[in-house]
Amino acid sequence: MGERVGVTGWVGVLGPLVAWRPVARLVQKFGGTSVGDPERIRAVADHVARCRRRGDEIVLVVSAMGKETDELLRIAAEVSATRPGREMDMLITAGERKAIALVSMALADIGVPADSYTGSQAGFITDTNHTDAKILEVRADRIAETLASGRVAVVAGAQGVSTDRDVTFLGRGGSDTTAVALAKALGADACELYTDVSGVYTTDPRVVPAARKMSRISFDELLEMTATGCPKPAMRSVEYAHRHGVKLHVRSAFTWEPGTWVVEEDPDMEHAVVRAVTHDLSEAKITVTGVPDRPGVAARLFRALADRNVNVDMIVQNASALGVTDISFTVPHSDVATATDVVESLKDELGAGGVAADTAIARVSVIGAGMKTNPGIAASMFETLSNAGINIDMISTSAIRISCVVAEPQAEEAVAILHDAYGLDRTVG
Ligand code: ADP
Ligand code: ASP
Ligand code: MG
Repeated sequence: MGERVGVTGWVGVLGPLVAWRPVARLVQKFGGTSVGDPERIRAVADHVARCRRRGDEIVLVVSAMGKETDELLRIAAEVSATRPGREMDMLITAGERKAIALVSMALADIGVPADSYTGSQAGFITDTNHTDAKILEVRADRIAETLASGRVAVVAGAQGVSTDRDVTFLGRGGSDTTAVALAKALGADACELYTDVSGVYTTDPRVVPAARKMSRISFDELLEMTATGCPKPAMRSVEYAHRHGVKLHVRSAFTWEPGTWVVEEDPDMEHAVVRAVTHDLSEAKITVTGVPDRPGVAARLFRALADRNVNVDMIVQNASALGVTDISFTVPHSDVATATDVVESLKDELGAGGVAADTAIARVSVIGAGMKTNPGIAASMFETLSNAGINIDMISTSAIRISCVVAEPQAEEAVAILHDAYGLDRTVG
């Protein structure tokens, strides 16, 4: 990127001051709310024009407008019970395709030359796993040529073309991954994920208004956050960025202020032991009761679940009484029916008593890299919950995270009291 040089500013009282700096190549991704209506689309175009005046080279990645993806999924469910994956992908990717055309038009109107590209045109080659395809390769030469000719490339998020030549969708939140993968392929200086909040917060600002934006967060902490319910950025994009050394900046498409930089190691990490609280309502608990406590039972059960692609998360086996125990585990809501079916079909073979599913649970987690060297966080988390009369149903930990399953109606209260107990409304960035 050596020869790309731009003029960034010039007027000064002492005469014209020309400040030279290398041009930044930026991939800027805009989420659904950020391009949710014509006014928002024009605001994005104005922002791009400002960046270009500064000399930056811009590639945009755009999500479907507003809640369009949800709307398309809803219509599909009304039309079809089978919803073939190939056709679902053709349908869902239409949302992003509309958005890129509109953004490109808004850019043209203010004199910024821009071309829109579908995922396929932008060189995203994926596997054939419809509705949740994985990127195999990004052939970014066409986008690189667009930049070389001084134009803005506007790329549809969350899509590609499969090795079978069909249109594929990368899954919910896939536009973040598109942006990170393009940033890597183009050797961009940074990947900016613009959204409707001004960065990554100490907890969901919709749940706790006192939540604070973090100016930096480490990849490890952010990965734990996204794995336990924080929707922003999509977990796969964080993994991709970490693996490929892409610089990530999560920021606001409304205020344009600096947001949260995702870094390898955060020097502040030692100070705040707990840095964030997350919650996840997407899982359910399955309990198998009256299971004989003998070798092979868990192996048989979880092998059968794995064979049916059930995504098991937390597992708890109670101490046995009189040679009989209970096993509980959590699965995504979408896997409850299959998991129950698997357990029912094994009940006689295992000699189990029964199976029950509880969908009204929530997982609440506290996260912080400083936990590794600070004992007692688990105890203080349990005390905080117990002081509020919140019962803990299951517990799991990693080196930098502690998660508790609680009753769903108590999830938001649990998040708020933990956020307060660890002083997260008071810590700086
Ligand atoms: P986009 O559509 O822009 O990709 P999403 O709507 O998927 O973004 O995610 C942004 C939302 O994530 C925010 O509006 C915010 O309410 C929610 N959120 C939950 N937890 C956090 C957190 N810890 N930090 C920032 N945002 C969070
Ligand atoms: N529009 C898709 C979704 O809502 C993809 C994305 O925005 O990342 O999940
Ligand atoms: Mg989104």
